Amino acid sequence: MRINVHAGHNPAGMTACGAVGLINESTENRKVKNEVIRLLKMRNDTVYDCTVDNGKNQTDVLRKIVEKCNAHEVDLDISIHFNSAANDSNGDGKTTGTEVYVYSAASSAAPFAARVCREIESLGFKNRGVKYNRGLYVLKNTKAPAMLIECCFVDDRDDVKLYSYEKMAAAIVRAIT
Ligand SMILES: [Zn+2]
Repeated sequence: MRINVHAGHNPAGMTACGAVGLINESTENRKVKNEVIRLLKMRNDTVYDCTVDNGKNQTDVLRKIVEKCNAHEVDLDISIHFNSAANDSNGDGKTTGTEVYVYSAASSAAPFAARVCREIESLGFKNRGVKYNRGLYVLKNTKAPAMLIECCFVDDRDDVKLYSYEKMAAAIVRAIT
């Protein structure tokens, strides 16, 4: 397989960085992204890292990501994010969990997305399912089938306790291979 992988947003601490909670989206999504790339390369898949670390603002980050993605002929684009707004910093014993976005039910990425949800669910996270969204810039503008993975919530104590970047990355790779 030929796959584009990127971590969403600028790096932590910069303008247009990701969500900040008990953990930091831009830090963790880069760890997951690097591990996904390492695992795919071990399988001899062709992988391109389309992460952008120098966007001038959020629009610029997205535009540059899509430019990198579309420079390669691939079977799948994977965008790695973490969710926020669970507002459960104390932990209520339940994860808020994982969800994966694709452009529409007709996207060739949709079956991959469903499998990503199930594999992350098998780690113990709540499966919030596959969501369809025609407004997300990366999903709308990439040439290859694309999915945007919201691994888990940065502001849910239960998600953060369960989360490890190695297991998250391994689940994603199991799902797409
Ligand atoms: Zn994000």
